[in-house]
Amino acid sequence: TPSSLKNETNLTFMKNSKEWDLLRASLTKFNDNTSLQIPLVINGEKIYSDETRPTLSHFNPAKHSQELATVTQANPIDVTNAIKTSMSAKKDWLKTPWVDRASIFLKAAELISTKYRYDLLAATILGQGKNIFQAEIDSIAELNDFYRYNVKYAKELYSTQPIETSSGVWNRAEYRPLEGFVYAVTPFNFTAIAGNLVGAPALMGNTVVWKPSPHSILSNYLLYEILEEAGLPKGVVNFLPGDAELITNEVINDENFSALHFTGSTSVFKNLFSTIGQNINKDVYKDFPRIVGETGGKNFHLIHKSASVVHSSLSTLRGAFEYQGQKCSATSRLYLSESISNQFLKNLTENLNTIVPHNCSISEGLNSFMGPVIHKQSYEKLVSKIEQAKEDPDLEIIYGGKYDSKDGFFIQPTIIESNKIDHPYFSEEFFGPILVVYKYKDKDYEKVINIIDKTSKYGLTGSIFSKDREAIRTAEEKLRYSAGNFYINDKCTGAVVGQQWFGGSRMSGTNDKSGSANILSRFVSVRNVKENF
Ligand code: GLU
Repeated sequence: TPSSLKNETNLTFMKNSKEWDLLRASLTKFNDNTSLQIPLVINGEKIYSDETRPTLSHFNPAKHSQELATVTQANPIDVTNAIKTSMSAKKDWLKTPWVDRASIFLKAAELISTKYRYDLLAATILGQGKNIFQAEIDSIAELNDFYRYNVKYAKELYSTQPIETSSGVWNRAEYRPLEGFVYAVTPFNFTAIAGNLVGAPALMGNTVVWKPSPHSILSNYLLYEILEEAGLPKGVVNFLPGDAELITNEVINDENFSALHFTGSTSVFKNLFSTIGQNINKDVYKDFPRIVGETGGKNFHLIHKSASVVHSSLSTLRGAFEYQGQKCSATSRLYLSESISNQFLKNLTENLNTIVPHNCSISEGLNSFMGPVIHKQSYEKLVSKIEQAKEDPDLEIIYGGKYDSKDGFFIQPTIIESNKIDHPYFSEEFFGPILVVYKYKDKDYEKVINIIDKTSKYGLTGSIFSKDREAIRTAEEKLRYSAGNFYINDKCTGAVVGQQWFGGSRMSGTNDKSGSANILSRFVSVRNVKENF
């Protein structure tokens, strides 16, 4: 492990710079490649669709007439084979010295920051609707940080050993991988998260059945190929796109299922959790499976009267609307001191006036602040929330509210105000560019904090903006469980690996903190060995 490990540096993409041209060349390559065929990969063997394996089309969310890929969907026998392969591949993998496993991920990080940088960026931009900056902080910086910091944390974990009690005795801890296989269910919104959900357990000696999201298949398949090129042995990670229900059904009813590593919606996670619970009761498994999940959020910005208006309004704009609000951590409810609300909203909306969602996969749009939302279902859900707001007497759209799906799934940044603090819009996750605002009277500051906590069904991220230490302390103390990532005078998105360990409790997941050592410990099952001499 490099002793001076630092987070990966982000490149800046000045128009017509070398980086800009290289990225455009990669985008052109994908754009010219009329629809890639994406296979399953089981035991290193690529399997393409046939009559038992239907295909699913993946379209550019910014231009839905453009098919980017056709994705092979696994059939039940493929799932069984992926599980079998995972079980047989792990015999060698768990005996592979950890430094060799680590080398593979460090090499992958190198390949990502050099040879494949522009291709991975292009795949993330095209497939997931990100602009350059969002693609760079995700598919390059965060992904590589996960791989490099996981190695650092693994090294520390392996060297943490019990006390050698006396002479003639040696106590030692063996960090065994889990006995069965790990099921990684990965989301569309971060290439890095997919990389970590698969990479963290694999680094610790586990084998993985990976169900990628069909909406990030371009970047995810490329990442699979990079891991292979970096030396990942066949069968350690089995790449299994396809119908979520079909795959999950086979996987979590298997006796060797040892862990779920999940990022996605709360409702899917709840179902998985409860099926696993029922299966434990039916003695389906050898083990109690580890369940590690990061799910939804309804993340708050609380603006105190003492806050810097310029800073807090800009931070709110970024938290709420970067990547179209499609981060689990995105700011989606705002509690605003009435005494500074006019200036705050003026700043916010003036800046928003400069933003027009655009296709980020073409030159003119590469630097656009916003792109499309990910797919039709999401677009329709968001549109219905906007339309409902128009009908609801307790809600008022104070900014935006326009949408257009002629070419791609574009939704204008939208702000909805309500003076009913317990309106369901303050607790329901939308996962898109919609921010809900409540203005409070300064004398009610503490009361509002209590209500924020009470209405936090989720507990992922949240921020207080204030220059008043007492106000900050009150918020930090009373909102202890309302956010697993609590920010003071910063937006509630953009956790950096190693710096802000990421995750929340309540309905936001198991809070095992990606980007920290803690997550790795979930994928080992320690054996303590005592030897007498
Ligand atoms: N880690 C990301 C952030 O802090 C969000 C991850 C997610 O959307 O799940 O913004």
